Formats: sequence, C-alpha cells, structure tokens
Amino acid sequence: MGPPVQLMAMALSLRARCVFLGGPGAGKGTQARRVAGAASLVHISTGDMLRQEIATGTALGAKAKPFMDLGKLVPDEILIGMVNERIQKPDAKSAWILDGFPRTLPQAEALDRSLSVANALSHVIYFAVPEQVLFGRLTGRRTCSKCGAIWHVETNPTRKPNVCDVCGGATVQRADDHPDKIAKRLEEYRTLTAPLLTYYRERKVLREIDANRSPDVIYQELLKLMQ
Ligand SMILES: [Zn+2]
Repeated sequence: MGPPVQLMAMALSLRARCVFLGGPGAGKGTQARRVAGAASLVHISTGDMLRQEIATGTALGAKAKPFMDLGKLVPDEILIGMVNERIQKPDAKSAWILDGFPRTLPQAEALDRSLSVANALSHVIYFAVPEQVLFGRLTGRRTCSKCGAIWHVETNPTRKPNVCDVCGGATVQRADDHPDKIAKRLEEYRTLTAPLLTYYRERKVLREIDANRSPDVIYQELLKLMQ
C-alpha cells in the first residue's frame, strides 16, 4: 500500500459523513472498519452496537434480541434512537461511517432530519454484489467474538480454524448467518433496503462500487470515490 492511498485515507478524516449501503454480506463492515482505521474516523456499526447491547444485557439489547435471533430487521424506532444518540457523541462530531443503518426508508428520513444542513451526508456508497454471491459469502462468514474481525471459511480463512488471527479470540458463526436466516435477510433487503438506492440517487449523494471483487481493489476504489 503506497503513500498516495494513505494520504487519500487521511484526507477523509475531517469531513466524511458516509453511509455504506448494500445487501448483507456485501463487504460494508470489512471496508468500513478498514477505511475508519486508516482515516481515523468513527465506524458506527449498528450490528456491532446491537450485539454489544445484547452481550451486556441492556434494556435495548433485550428489545432487539428476538428480532436478531430470527434474522429479522430490528424495528425502526429502536435503531433510530440508538443511532441518534451515537452521532451526538463528541467523537462523532466531524467524520463517521454508518454501516448497517439506514436499512429502511423511515430510517433514512429520520437520519436526514437529525443531521443539520452543515452536517448533511457527504457520501452514500452502494456496494453492488449479485444476490447469489451474497448467499455464498454469508454462509461461510465467521465473526470474531472478541474484536469483530470478519473471516470466511473459504475466501478469507483464519490460520488456525475458529481462532481470530488478529486477537486470538474465538470466531463464531453469527446467529443470523445460518442458511435459513440468510434467505429471509436477503428478502428483507430486497423489499426494504433496495428503495433507499432511489432515495439517495434523487438526492445526488449515491456512488456505486462493484463490490464483487477483491477487498484490496474495492478499498482503493472506495478511497477515490470518497474524496
Ligand atoms: Zn479478533
């Protein structure tokens, strides 16, 4: 990775307020983590936040858990409240990436309402991947239970089975990555999230990236798209 890529990443740190959009398994989380790390901006993953709420036994976690266990979308009001609170925190004042939110039209509208004109979204990046590819990615996906790193049993395996290369934590198959849940998630994505493409296209903030390629190629193109 040469200096130009690093410079491009650093240039994002002050003003990027992005939404990463795409089907489950499109690679949003992996790329958001990488861009956020390189550009020191805040990665706001609603999936990670919800799993954290559940793990620590909060009231919000208890409300969200039944939906997540079934592979269903968590209701708008739960997510909207959680995200609004998160983006008001001091570390999220300037630049962030939202990953996993918004997933429905009401969530997108609520996000627009909560952002002032000066703080409006700078980019919405759509990670385009054919649905059958998403299915294969999700069935093989493993997530580190400790640091959240994302692996794949075939395309991005850990050196030791079920042990995270990054932190040594146990890798697990998320409850919603089981095959019977995946079909449901893809269907919900089609009906609820796909309309967001039109919403953001009309607002002229939508950029599309062909995300059916290697993570490194996607990362470099992503940094260019986000300038
Ligand atoms: Zn880990």
